[in-house]
Amino acid sequence: MAEGNQNGFVFWDEQIPNGHKAFFKLKVDRLDLIEKTFYPLDYYTSCRTIPTSWAIQLKYERMQDAIGSYTFSINLKRIDSSDHRVKASLYVSFYDVEDTLVFHPISSSIDRMAHDELKGMLENILPSMLSEVVSVEVKITIENCHEGTDWQCASKVNTDQNSINLSKL
Ligand SMILES: [Zn+2]
Repeated sequence: MAEGNQNGFVFWDEQIPNGHKAFFKLKVDRLDLIEKTFYPLDYYTSCRTIPTSWAIQLKYERMQDAIGSYTFSINLKRIDSSDHRVKASLYVSFYDVEDTLVFHPISSSIDRMAHDELKGMLENILPSMLSEVVSVEVKITIENCHEGTDWQCASKVNTDQNSINLSKL
């Protein structure tokens, strides 16, 4: 498990029985005012069997429609050279100052992924809702790179937060 906290984001990762989980929490500010591309995030699984490397890009973009809605996109790209296929999943949540979900999380996955990209997108975000977002959580899960828990520290698996506030959706 590795942890870090720099440039306004928190990071940790852990091993799960057949893979790895990474978690980024980014602080954001007034996303409705500007187009924003975050500095690319990197993730290396440190797997003893099939280590994999990933580049993560997040982007907010204002659309040319009547209400000036925004589109949020995430791109998870595998950048190592191994041909071993893994399962990759992403889950992105958007929180307000009270740590309540502002709108629907994004989730996406590919079962057998080698040199490819996994994309997720949320469209038609109202500027008024975007202005409430103060943090973005990105969870990445990489599976099928190793098996078993007995040969390394058996990290506990954190359960996902299931509390979804639907009142604002
Ligand atoms: Zn692994």
